[in-house]
Amino acid sequence: MFSKILIANRGEVAVRIIRACKDMGISTVAVYSEADEESIHVALADEAICVGKASPKDSYLNMENIISAALVTGAQAIHPGYGFLAENAGFARLCKKFGLVFIGPDAKVIEKMGDKDAARKLMVQAGVPVVPGSDLIENLQQARQEARRIGFPLLIKASAGGGGKGIRLVKDESQLEHAFLMAAEEAKNAFGNGNVYMEKYLAPVKHIEIQLLSDEKGNTVCLGERECSIQRNNQKLLEEAPSSGLSAELRERMMEAAGRAAKAAGYTNAGTVEFLLDTDQNFYFMEMNTRLQVEHPITEEISGVDLVKWQIRIASGVLLDMKQEDIRLKGAAIECRINARSGGTVTFLHVPGGPGVRFETALYQGYQVPPFYDSLIGKLVVHGQNREEAIRKMQSALCELVVEGVANNIEEQLEILDDPDFRKGEYFTDFIQRKGL
Ligand code: ADP
Ligand code: ADP
Ligand code: MG
Repeated sequence: MFSKILIANRGEVAVRIIRACKDMGISTVAVYSEADEESIHVALADEAICVGKASPKDSYLNMENIISAALVTGAQAIHPGYGFLAENAGFARLCKKFGLVFIGPDAKVIEKMGDKDAARKLMVQAGVPVVPGSDLIENLQQARQEARRIGFPLLIKASAGGGGKGIRLVKDESQLEHAFLMAAEEAKNAFGNGNVYMEKYLAPVKHIEIQLLSDEKGNTVCLGERECSIQRNNQKLLEEAPSSGLSAELRERMMEAAGRAAKAAGYTNAGTVEFLLDTDQNFYFMEMNTRLQVEHPITEEISGVDLVKWQIRIASGVLLDMKQEDIRLKGAAIECRINARSGGTVTFLHVPGGPGVRFETALYQGYQVPPFYDSLIGKLVVHGQNREEAIRKMQSALCELVVEGVANNIEEQLEILDDPDFRKGEYFTDFIQRKGL
């Protein structure tokens, strides 16, 4: 097992990883930008090194400085969290080159699955159903041809996209030319890679994803699903596990397909296979996220498995001590993402608690939220004996939670929980838009 780990991230996920390390008796090294000197992850880690200016490209994406920080402090491994360098195959390679363990799958696997177009092809080979769509689109003529074959509405997607970015809806032929040219240009600017392809736009659909853990011997367990259909602009807002849209039989089939996907990719460590599920119970592979996911705590709550600790164990060569038949999923869990809608200083903070209530955050009273990073400032997670109890628990926890000084979306989360269709579990990825929330 490692004795020292560097955490190449900030915010709530850096705190989450530091806590896991402390439980495991592993020393921690935080890295931070000049804007994050007063951040809680810096205070909680055993050591902390400034890796650059506020802008992510100068600090949290600055591979050379992060590797140097690990070498100088004698860290043996680097946990990338999510976002930033978590799905950067070049960074995983660089770690290896300098004798550091990248806590995640092999660079080749990251590369393969990070290219959405290549991942789709691999899934077709593995017999996993994918959303009907095209190969890479090279030019406008090809775009027209493929669009007619697929049918409208369709999506143009960046092969290198992520975080809800790089997706464009095309309703009819008249929008195609502009959309295609814009999408390729945007993809080049945002991801340094202008490759795009098309997918049929499926609606109504649920976003259902399967959490996996695989060790170096290829032993794999599936820890059930998460439903992430509550989204704004293709970005998740509220997630729950299990999904009320899945029968036990369908869950089995989706877990089997996810296991096959992982096997085809030669996957190790924690990973998530994302699917779209239509109202006829057909499911389609969308992408695989080769990292810890933002909403991982709801799986931890229902499975009792600590995903971050297992990421660290697997990266150090420990084999899974559980088999699929040992996995027991209990009760229901919900996560509400708390997003900042402004900058500012937290003038007052009250955090809810009690059995089954967990608040993952890097906030503290007096903290000044820097404007340079993701808007996620906290994740409120509850676990109940069943969905009804989890919803009630989330409602009271959201009412208790007070974040003053920074505009946020606590009220919006309460509105979602209040909605009769949400209560019935009858909702799809267009929920927020349809409800005008
Ligand atoms: P999850 O898939 O874990 O639910 P999100 O899709 O919300 O997470 O993305 C997690 C974080 O990573 C967000 O901060 C998002 O902006 C960022 N992110 C994910 N993929 C990319 C990418 N390819 N490029 C830039 N940022 C990304
Ligand atoms: P990202 O890498 O940004 O997470 P995804 O490919 O996972 O991108 O898609 C993000 C979201 O966009 C999905 O959760 C879903 O709501 C929507 N989406 C993606 N593909 C389709 C599709 N073919 N049809 C309908 N909605 C889609
Ligand atoms: Mg996705």
